Amino acid sequence: MNCTQARPRIAAYVDQELDALECLRLDAHVSGCRACQHERTQQVFVSRELRRELVRHRAPSDLHRRIRENLLSKARRTQPWWQRLRWPALVPTAGFAAAALFSANVYMLASMPSQEDRVADGVLDSHLRALIGSRAIDVVSSDQHTVKPWYAGRLDFSPPVTDFATQGFALLGGRIDYVEGRTAAALVYQHRKHVVDVYIWPDAHSPERAPAQVARRGYNLVHWTRNGMTYWLASDLEAVELAKLEALLAATPAT
Ligand SMILES: [Zn+2]
Repeated sequence: MNCTQARPRIAAYVDQELDALECLRLDAHVSGCRACQHERTQQVFVSRELRRELVRHRAPSDLHRRIRENLLSKARRTQPWWQRLRWPALVPTAGFAAAALFSANVYMLASMPSQEDRVADGVLDSHLRALIGSRAIDVVSSDQHTVKPWYAGRLDFSPPVTDFATQGFALLGGRIDYVEGRTAAALVYQHRKHVVDVYIWPDAHSPERAPAQVARRGYNLVHWTRNGMTYWLASDLEAVELAKLEALLAATPAT
């Protein structure tokens, strides 16, 4: 696949409308093409902003009533004959109504994003904002002895800061970011041509959590909780490569 073939597919890719094979082919191109990576970043950003800002209209009561009646009449038609009897079918009808209510509740629960989903979205949003905007790094330095004290005056916790340049992950600097209402330290690393944001915030109340990977719209996230700190990595880097940074961070003593 080349850029001309990739471009018209990027929006559909971001909205997860491509089939698995097309997704793989597009991934193969985008992972090696800066221009298409930039296009994907912008598309993800636009798609998320649209979703957030879209005006939602309430259905007029008349439309609401007609849909309801339509659904009810369909439900009545699909009921077995013994449920359609007016009497003595009261009990099964009540059962049917209860089942309908129950399945509606289960559906609502299943379609609600979990707390973890919301945090993952927040992390990805923040990562994209930094990629697009001009404020990717507040303190530009590869020196941990510069970056760590910079946080000291600005956060009420001390994130572990280590440069892993010799292992392929060069520290570019850090910034302070906000994820789902929390203040987080965001350390910025570079691996080849990819940027990795490492979000860290204190989380004394959560149990320890082994690293878990989440793939979202062409980006990879890894998160874990250790020693009272929650970590999220976000990048378009392949999951295997991100796991290497996770291992390096795990081997770093918390300070
Ligand atoms: Zn391209």
